[in-house]
Order: sequence, then C-alpha cells, then structure tokens
Amino acid sequence: MTAPAVVLCISGHDPCGGAGIQADIEAVAAAGAHAVTVITAHTVQDTSDVRRVAAVDATLLDEQLRVLAADVPIAAVKIGLLGSAAQVPVLLQFLARLGRPVVLDPVLRAGGGAMLASPGLAAGLLAATTVATPNADEARGLAPAAADLDTAGAALVAAGARHVLITGGDEPGDAVVNRWYRAGHGPRRYVWPRLAGGFHGAGCTLAAAIAARLAQGMEVAAALEDAQAFTQRALAAAVAIGGGRRIPRRIHQ
Ligand code: PLP
Repeated sequence: MTAPAVVLCISGHDPCGGAGIQADIEAVAAAGAHAVTVITAHTVQDTSDVRRVAAVDATLLDEQLRVLAADVPIAAVKIGLLGSAAQVPVLLQFLARLGRPVVLDPVLRAGGGAMLASPGLAAGLLAATTVATPNADEARGLAPAAADLDTAGAALVAAGARHVLITGGDEPGDAVVNRWYRAGHGPRRYVWPRLAGGFHGAGCTLAAAIAARLAQGMEVAAALEDAQAFTQRALAAAVAIGGGRRIPRRIHQ
C-alpha cells in the first residue's frame, strides 16, 4: 500500500480531546492522511473553558521538529495554539527549511472566553502562512486598526498570509458566513446554516482538515470548500462528553 500523505500538526494539548492536537489527529485521519504531532503547550481545561496554558520549552520543540523532518516526508503543516514567543523563531526557521504549505489557526481566545495567547505570536508567523483561518474575533485581534472584517482580511494578506479564511461562527446571525481573501481577488463568501449550541474545537477541526487536503495535493479553493463541508458535518454530529460545549464528531460520523 502507498503511504498516506503526512501532515505535521503543531498545536496545544486539550485534555478533553475536543480541540488542539486531538482535533488535528482526528480531522487528518478522517481525510485519509497521517498526522505527526508536536505539542506547543499543555492546557488545563474542561469543555467549558481553559484555566491554564503551560508552554513546552522551545528547545524541545526545535529538537522534535528536526528529528521528525529528517525522517518523515511532511507534505503540509498545521499550526494551532502557540505557547511562547520563543517558539516563533524556531517555527519560522523550520518552516523556511521545509518549504511546504502551512495552515495557521491563530488561536487567541478559547470559546469559553479565556485568553490563550497574545496576537503577536500568531502575527509573527503570517509571512510563512499559506492559509490562515482566524475567526472574526481573532481577525480583529490580529488587525486591530481594521474598521471591518474585509479590511482585516486584506490586512492579513498584506502581512504575508497568501490566503485568509475568516470564519464567522463567533459572529451573530442565522447563518455562519466565512470569507476567503487573497491578493488580486475580491472576498469570496461561504454561507452555512448556523447549528444550534456552542462547539469546542471547531476551528482546530477546520484548519487541520484544510491542511490534510493540501497535503493530498488539493488546490486551495477545493480544500477550503471541502474542509468547510467536512467541519459542518462534524459539528452537526457533535457530542456532549461533558457539561460544557459539544465536541465535533470527526470520525465515525
Ligand atoms: N485548547 C487548545 C489546545 C486549542 O488549540 C484551542 C483552540 O484552538 C482551544 C483550547 C479552544 O478551543 P475552542 O475555542 O473551540 O473552545
């Protein structure tokens, strides 16, 4: 059998298994790709909110990335929660050497409200990013001078992200409107029915699903479309494993 495409997932660990690295592994596996994983931070959290983030030492991250990349042919990278400022130059050097598509989910705040990382960390990686997937709140955090989401999307493209998909799950309204921005094109809107209730790990699921599709050779437009449809299915089948928000059902849908 031919080996599946490999996606390197660089994210935090959520002990609930709804978000973070477990979301990545499941979304990548559901696409038929294989996830290799490097943890940026441990978290203390339940399905309602995050209580503490403890960064992994940047030198450990560096060593793991080097050893892994020397052995395994990585086809695409997904980056989620960043643990510390010291991790940013390690990642920039690694990504420049690797030269593969990078999907960046610039995690700033948990759905429960807790701040997880400062915008400066993810902003430092935009120039190395193929597809950034901020939600509306994160897009505003990364482009604080922007008057509206379209201006924020354009600002993130100007900051170096080749494609930006601003997700609207955290905005009010009967529909969820996601917006795709890239240089030389007007914004493209995707409209999805809003599903009832809150979810824990939706953003991680979408970003990892995009990375898996890029790793398998899909063009960006098709990967964005297909990964959104996959995420919508995972959310429609979401399960309550605790007393807080439901987690997406990424496998065995
Ligand atoms: N914990 C980790 C490790 C994450 O990566 C994220 C989001 O990406 C969260 C928690 C918060 O997820 P949510 O906003 O879906 O609750």
